[in-house]
Parts: sequence; C-alpha cells; structure tokens
Amino acid sequence: MRVLLLSDIHANLEALEACLAAAPPYGMLVNLGDIVGYGACPNEVIARVRDRESLVVRGNHDKACAGLTDLKYFNPVAALAVLWSQRALTPENLEWVRALPQGPLQLPELPGVQFAHGSPLDEDEYLILPNDAVVPLVDSSVPLVFFGHTHIQGGFCLDVADPRALRPVYRQGDRLEKHELLLQNGVRYLINPGSAGQPRDGDPRAAFAIFDSEANSVTYFRVPYDVGLAQRRIRDAGLPERLAVRLGEGR
Ligand code: ZN
Repeated sequence: MRVLLLSDIHANLEALEACLAAAPPYGMLVNLGDIVGYGACPNEVIARVRDRESLVVRGNHDKACAGLTDLKYFNPVAALAVLWSQRALTPENLEWVRALPQGPLQLPELPGVQFAHGSPLDEDEYLILPNDAVVPLVDSSVPLVFFGHTHIQGGFCLDVADPRALRPVYRQGDRLEKHELLLQNGVRYLINPGSAGQPRDGDPRAAFAIFDSEANSVTYFRVPYDVGLAQRRIRDAGLPERLAVRLGEGR
C-alpha cells in the first residue's frame, strides 16, 4: 500500500493543494497533526482532508483550537492564531477537530508501523536532534514510526546502536523535487514527512512524503506553491505578520 503522509498543514490551503496535486497515486492519506493554527484557511483545509479517506492524528494546535489546552503553554503569536482559528472554524469543524484521536495510531493493514504527532511516547514532545530521538527509537513498540511537530523534513534512524539524523538532499530550486529512502530491515526509524503548511527547515517549499509498504521505501517531496497568496490571506485575516513572513523564509 502507498500512504500519502502529510503533517503540520496549519490551515495553509495553497500548500495543501500543491501537495495533493503533486502526490503520486496513493491508497490512504495519513495526517500527522496540526491541520489548523497559523494559517488563514482552517475550514477549507479541513474540508479537503474530510473529503478523502484518511487517518488523522491530533496535534498540539488542533488540541488548543479545540479548547483542550491552556494557551499559557503557547507563545503569544501561536496563541493569537489559536484564538483566531477558534472564531473562524464552523461549529461542525470545531467538533471534528475536538474529536481527533491522540497518537500513536496504527492501521490494521500496516502492522509494525505507527503514526504520531510529536513522539510515539509523548504526543507533545519535539524530536529535533538525534539525542531527542534515542529513547523513542529504542522504546517504541514498532520499528517504523511516522511523526511531525518539528516542521523539519527527514527524521532519524537507529542503525547498529548508532542513532543519526536523516535529511533528504535537494538542489533547493523552485521546482518539484523528491528524494527516495530505502528502508533497511533491522533498522529502527522515526520518519518526518516535513510540514506542508509552515516549513521550518530553511526550504519554503511545501513538504510531504509517500510511504510504499511493498517497496519498503519512503519518498520525500518538496513542492513549490503560491506562498504570496497564502501570505496575503494571513495578512487579510489580521493574523500576526510574523506568520506571513516566515512562510517566505521557510523558518
Ligand atoms: Zn505544527
């Protein structure tokens, strides 16, 4: 089965549509959390995801927008975006966000694979450096976990007791690019498809990945999208200026 992996869309409709248009055929869409928060199109993005057969893990921004988190744990810009999203979401979509399940989740068709927002051990944990990943790599109940939350495409692997970061290599143009990783038996993986709607790894292109369970491979993608339109929508919505600026920087 081929799984389209999306994470951290953050209500960025232009980025989501570019990912869906660029993705090769897939059997299932899995969303690793943070559908809403930051961007200006939460209802439109939720509609696109609800239209498709999908498995959706809740993220920390989804929890906050649903009123399940105290906003004192958010920085002021993120908290303002949460308050804006709470007002913008339709009652039906707010209910849908509130009902999203906590990760890690599993699909019956894919034993040995889990889907989480932060870490398979803690949905709110940030796995940024190889050191952060050691315990979840060792203690996770499955050898392959897909996660998001950091907005950094790549992930980690544990190979003969040596944890290391995985980072796809691109020429960093303004075109669609992809990078294939063949998964090795006996190696444990934490794989991050990157953020569709607010990349923070220095590449402003939208990020996603495809997991092919038959080929045992992950293909990372970067796709250009209309950043200017997403920025204009953020400014027109009265959301914090920083949220528009950072889309152009990919930080
Ligand atoms: Zn996020």
